Amino acid sequence: MQQAMLTCPHCNTQGEQTLTPFLDLGKHPKQKLAILTDSLFTLTCPSCKEQFSVLHELLVVDEQEHFALMLIPDTELGEVDGKVTGKEEVGEYTLRLVSSNASLKEKLLLLDNNLDDRVVELCKLYLSMNVKEKDVQLLFTDIQKEEQTLLFTVLDADSHVLGSIACEMELYTQLVETVKAFALRKGYFTKVDQMWAYQMIRNSAGR
Ligand SMILES: [Zn+2]
Repeated sequence: MQQAMLTCPHCNTQGEQTLTPFLDLGKHPKQKLAILTDSLFTLTCPSCKEQFSVLHELLVVDEQEHFALMLIPDTELGEVDGKVTGKEEVGEYTLRLVSSNASLKEKLLLLDNNLDDRVVELCKLYLSMNVKEKDVQLLFTDIQKEEQTLLFTVLDADSHVLGSIACEMELYTQLVETVKAFALRKGYFTKVDQMWAYQMIRNSAGR
């Protein structure tokens, strides 16, 4: 836990708040729900009792599943050395860096569905070529078991929902082979997003 003085956006009063910079999902699996429902980043003003949200740095570790996610809001970094966590064991984990709450939630959903986020980002790259609007962001929503498709929400640059788009599970299966050529630096939290997928494709084409 971490104490911080924060100003309430409703009444402008400063109040002391308790932030959670670290979650151990192996020990407290229910805390995943706090991320997925946004309650982790929702604070209540001690003065006016209104709620407001504050996105802050967060490290999520799951020792059972061997993954760790690092949230650094709006970071431009592509990687962060796992050593900064002070936890030696993370060197052997799947490590991902995210810059928004939406991508943090997406990573957890992908892990829950046993989907490889690198493959999913490649699928998104293919899908976004078929979307008319420019600068769209795709977020994984669900697996549609009957249709054998992956469903994505399409958002514009301001995070407004434009609609949804589906991708055949077959494309995912095909791309599983492709990502094997894309190495990630061991022991580093890597931001695996559409930009990452684009660069990987470009690099492999240039070889
Ligand atoms: Zn207030």
